[in-house]
Amino acid sequence: MVALRDLLIASTQRLTDAGIAADEARTEARLLLQHAFGLTREQLILRPDLELDSSVLEPLLARRASREPLAYILGERGFYGLSFRVTPAVLIPRPETELLVEAVINLPARLGSPPSGFAKGLLDIGTGSGCIAVTLAKLLPDVQVWATDISEAALDVARENAARHGAAVTFCLGDLLAPLPPEQRFEIVVSNPPYIAPADAKTLEPEVGVFEPHTALFDPISGSDGLTLYRRLASEAPARLRPSGWLMVEVGQGQAEAVARLFADAGLTNIEVREDLAGTPRVVLAQKSGLDRT
Ligand code: GLN
Repeated sequence: MVALRDLLIASTQRLTDAGIAADEARTEARLLLQHAFGLTREQLILRPDLELDSSVLEPLLARRASREPLAYILGERGFYGLSFRVTPAVLIPRPETELLVEAVINLPARLGSPPSGFAKGLLDIGTGSGCIAVTLAKLLPDVQVWATDISEAALDVARENAARHGAAVTFCLGDLLAPLPPEQRFEIVVSNPPYIAPADAKTLEPEVGVFEPHTALFDPISGSDGLTLYRRLASEAPARLRPSGWLMVEVGQGQAEAVARLFADAGLTNIEVREDLAGTPRVVLAQKSGLDRT
């Protein structure tokens, strides 16, 4: 048995030795300890003499020291104030993606009204954990939320997250918009597609490149520039938008200008680029004309 205080120090050191930055290592060691022994944050702080069996923590520490992301070990990640189940079948929700959610909820004043007899519709393409779709379904209860993903295993996680938060989302398995009923139209189409150029794989931290699902990270065409799915969204999504509807996407570093141009070339207007907290252009918004030409 080891005193909590000593176990925390040794665990932090182990994670630092594995290449994790010192401040993160301490926070993560705390979270792993809480998780392993079912302790609250308060207990962790107030009971440094608590005697613990270090062999309970050992397998979790070994996983993190191998650079498996903390979120997969804990099975949870917070996004926009909600806790999401995550498994290696899904991309771990990122704080930058909250900007896309924010852009959507600031939109209603600028949305066209759906034709009478129709509810407003929102589609999340490549939903992964479902973090975007589920959060928006909670925040916009009058909007019908649909979500697609090409991975059945990801959709299982997304369905679990929708159930966990009591969110009504219609999930469809398939490529981009292909699995949707052909007549279905949307006021908003959002997506955080896989946008990393395959050639950049070697620049990724092991947490990302080794552990996160490659279909969720990489442009599916080998040798391409990372923009393949934006090209496809620009050509396939506008026909599914109702007049005055919006296409809104997250983009990778350095991609915003090219994506804005793709959307403009597809006939969309009122193009806007939003920056994330680090000042990186991160979200591109574009509106379909108010007249239905499709
Ligand atoms: N929509 C999910 C997210 O934003 C998954 C995105 C993805 O897998 N590329 O986290």
